Amino acid sequence: MAIRQHTAWVSALGLALALVALTSCPCEAEVAGAGEEQPVEADDAAATIEEVAAMEATDMLRITTLYDNYQHDEKLRTNWGFSCLVELGDSVVLFDTGGDSPTLLYNVDELGIDLKRVQALVLSHDHGDHTGGAGGVLKRCPGLKVYACGSFSPRTKRVITGNGGKLVEVTSPIEILPGIQSTGEMGAGIHEQSLVVDTGSGIVVITGCAHPGIVGIVRKAKQLVKGDVLLVMGGFHLMGTPGPVVERAVADLKDLGVRKVSPSHCTGDAAIALFSEAFGENFMPGGVGLVVEFPMK
Ligand SMILES: [Zn+2]
Ligand SMILES: [Zn+2]
Repeated sequence: MAIRQHTAWVSALGLALALVALTSCPCEAEVAGAGEEQPVEADDAAATIEEVAAMEATDMLRITTLYDNYQHDEKLRTNWGFSCLVELGDSVVLFDTGGDSPTLLYNVDELGIDLKRVQALVLSHDHGDHTGGAGGVLKRCPGLKVYACGSFSPRTKRVITGNGGKLVEVTSPIEILPGIQSTGEMGAGIHEQSLVVDTGSGIVVITGCAHPGIVGIVRKAKQLVKGDVLLVMGGFHLMGTPGPVVERAVADLKDLGVRKVSPSHCTGDAAIALFSEAFGENFMPGGVGLVVEFPMK
């Protein structure tokens, strides 16, 4: 059997995993155009993961982090940004595309993921570290539906439509696919949408950068979809935020009943340390290559 740094989180108890904190760059990279595609390497390990995916795809929520500045799987490449693949039964959504397509597609190929299975691309907000890989994705998935905030710049919208994407402009909350919902555009400054995934026995909230505020996003998610918050993951945008403010956010999330957290990307090392301390075994180190799974009901 092939050996990979593929870590699944199956039960509500979860597992604590290794974390390498790497970088602290600002979140405002330029929007990149289409990147070069990387050759697909169909090795035994990739085939094994595909087989596992095929076996379990119908009754699981699986979220795979494809792009992050934190490293979870040492075989994958890190870079500033975020992207993850959300598979809920037969529904497959790509959430964000990281900052560049070569890095994203390298990781996709390394994990043996077929992007043609993706039914919708959701772009959280109009920052290049989330939209930069969109051109490369669309070259592999012609005609893919792309859910972007209505407030995205004309330039980013042209990257989507110019690469053959079917642009869906999001303002209000909207169902992307059964069980996978967007919060709709939030925030007074930087507009951003987040994903709310309903497993049937609780929800998972996935944020790109959480510019509108991680607590407000979770509050909105709970209004949209009833159920316990099993996990909040992604960028929490707390880099450089004073400790007491982070502690307030931690307390608010706990008050909202959040069971597990996996803060990553733009959360910042200091804030991640506070989340780790506060959530203990319910803290899950994020990073590229992290796979989390929940059974569906
Ligand atoms: Zn970001
Ligand atoms: Zn951002």
